[in-house]
Amino acid sequence: MREQLTELLEQGRSALMNADSAEALQQARVALLGKKGSMTGIMKGMGRMTAEERPVIGALANRIKEELETLFEERAAFIEEQELQRRLATERIDVTLPGRTRFSGSRHPVTLVTEEICDIFASLGFGVEEGPEVEQDFYNFEALNMPKDHPARDMQDTFYINDDVVLRTHTSPVQIRAMLKHAPPVRVIAPGTVYRRDSDITHSPMFHQIEGFLVDRHISFGDLKGILTTFITQYFGKNVGVRFRPSFFPFTEPSAEVDIQCVICGGGGCRVCKKSGWLEILGSGMIDPEVFRSVNYDSEKYSGFAFGMGIERIAMLKYGVNDLRLFFENDVRFLQQF
Ligand SMILES: [Zn+2]
Repeated sequence: MREQLTELLEQGRSALMNADSAEALQQARVALLGKKGSMTGIMKGMGRMTAEERPVIGALANRIKEELETLFEERAAFIEEQELQRRLATERIDVTLPGRTRFSGSRHPVTLVTEEICDIFASLGFGVEEGPEVEQDFYNFEALNMPKDHPARDMQDTFYINDDVVLRTHTSPVQIRAMLKHAPPVRVIAPGTVYRRDSDITHSPMFHQIEGFLVDRHISFGDLKGILTTFITQYFGKNVGVRFRPSFFPFTEPSAEVDIQCVICGGGGCRVCKKSGWLEILGSGMIDPEVFRSVNYDSEKYSGFAFGMGIERIAMLKYGVNDLRLFFENDVRFLQQF
């Protein structure tokens, strides 16, 4: 057995030293020292030995095992080093390659337009207010002079949560909330998300509005015209034509729709303005005394005006976007243009 073990050591040495890859080395180790390897085979003969021989052979076997393990470790380190050197020689980083471009985010056009409009009104002394998107019937309709049977409350347009709670259909409820919170004089601009059951090329079930109002003593339709004309010329340019057309809203009396000269054709007539040369951009009017009554403002003492506009519509005109749905598809190719 002594000879067998010495022979195993010699064989093992050359097997380990000749292994030229991590895989071959591992295989050689298993063949020598593994459960079914040569060493195990030889040690099976231990049973036939005398009690004196046994510890001597055992110690020899352990020494040989240790030596082979040490050899294995050394060879493994050597192979690993060689592999590293080989990779360093063959794989190179080309530092002259151009870097990968990282996309930087851009602001959504709806956000841009909202902020620009708010900035203009802030410069005119208006403060920004916000309100909940899930709104009580009272704020969304009742207090705005739209009692239960009013046609504007048609089920077609409104998302009802239950009889008394809706997804707000306009930003006008913020007007009511702000008036209940502040006594006049008050100037507020209220941007926000609104919801209607409508979806096509020019309508989205979720869109954005900006609402504004001003209440003070002696406010007249002249003030409404002055403030809105100032806003429009600041936003669309000094030379853009503006016109006020009589209209109807339940919460204002008298009411007016405001058109600007078509920004696409300059008033000559095109597809966007339907050959009229004018584009409707906002609704406005003097706040109805019924609205004042529901917020306990004295309509003998105070008067005021309110206006509202669709932010997507303004963004479409400003940036020449012809499909409303582009704003909500989140296609980065579209969004990166702003
Ligand atoms: Zn036009």
